[in-house]
Amino acid sequence: MTSIYPASRAASPAVSSADSLPQLREGLHRAWVEVDLDAVRRNARRLRHAAGVPIVAMVKADGYGTGAVAVARALVGMGDDTVWGLGVATLAEARELRDAGISARILCCTPLLAAEHDDARAFDVRPALHRASDISAWCNTSDAPWHLAIDTGMARAGVRWDAIDALRDVVHAHPPEGVFTHFHSAEMPNGSRAVQDTRFDEALRVLALPEHVLVHRDNSAGIASRAGSAGSPGALARPGIGLYGAFVTSPLALDQVVHFRARVIDVRDVHDGESVSYGGTFVAHGTRRIATISAGHGDGYRQLFSNRGDVLLNGARVRVAGLVSMDMTMLDVTGVPCEAGDVATLIGSDGNDVLTTDAVAECAGMSVYELLVGLALRVPRVHYEAENA
Ligand SMILES: *Cc1c(COP(=O)(O)O)cnc(C)c1O
Repeated sequence: MTSIYPASRAASPAVSSADSLPQLREGLHRAWVEVDLDAVRRNARRLRHAAGVPIVAMVKADGYGTGAVAVARALVGMGDDTVWGLGVATLAEARELRDAGISARILCCTPLLAAEHDDARAFDVRPALHRASDISAWCNTSDAPWHLAIDTGMARAGVRWDAIDALRDVVHAHPPEGVFTHFHSAEMPNGSRAVQDTRFDEALRVLALPEHVLVHRDNSAGIASRAGSAGSPGALARPGIGLYGAFVTSPLALDQVVHFRARVIDVRDVHDGESVSYGGTFVAHGTRRIATISAGHGDGYRQLFSNRGDVLLNGARVRVAGLVSMDMTMLDVTGVPCEAGDVATLIGSDGNDVLTTDAVAECAGMSVYELLVGLALRVPRVHYEAENA
């Protein structure tokens, strides 16, 4: 194996039982992310059910920040026809899954350079190809499967739908295992998905591929946009964000997966007129009780949450006070008894209250994708599932 791929961080991340969580938390002293693998599986089943076809579970970008190996294991171990395969964006991501002993089908949706083909073969990765020269080179070396990427309006990767004619011969000589497109705004009721559907159907008509070729198009928003109708056209769908319980939660009733927690590490009174944190943007009116928690923008809790983020603490919702700093964030906990060692929840549920990933992102006007993917590596991920899941 080439050395450009970093050693996997943890080929076998521990998966804890949900029952042991309270005990486990006692050993966690700073900030951590709890990842509910049962919720990931429930979301996968709901997405598969809504799509009406098996899914390529997108686990790129470390499973959208939740830990690709643990999530992939949970998904491929479901023992039904929910998951056809896993989707990655880079060969390093594929290698991490292979090193962890995961033998499921892996589709790399991002175009590879020809120089990467040997590694793709070595890791048993299905590449997304769209240049005639790449298709010939891939197919003349072996009969390993590949997927044809068609651009229908995203203008990012793949052959343009209206230039598909140029690939007819090479595709007929070497039929792909699958053919796909990707939507740019399926979550918006602006008709763009229908335009892309039509372009894709037209390209498929021109190609006249054999029946067995696996056609796929829907991301999470694509699946959600067809909720209540016939489901996803084709043979597969490729949800990502929905697996992690965000973005398309309302039409599909998806469950919260991520619970981002940090401990209170200090508590103090701040008196009338005194300020809190860098820049002094929070000024106390009267005496305020301020708690410091051990997470900040260095953990992925962005400065966008300064003076506006809500946090769950001891049965209450409290507000971030002042600028989020790199390693610590202050909360206005006036009237909420707390002490060093208490656990605050920045994303997810605590008791009967929940700050959904969607709500947290919306409060800061940021993308749910960036919120999850931006959770920093220094924050340990704690994966758990019910016993005998
Ligand atoms: C990331 C990605 C997906 C998943 O998209 P979500 O919006 O996260 O569901 C599907 N297909 C391709 C090609 C992608 O790059």
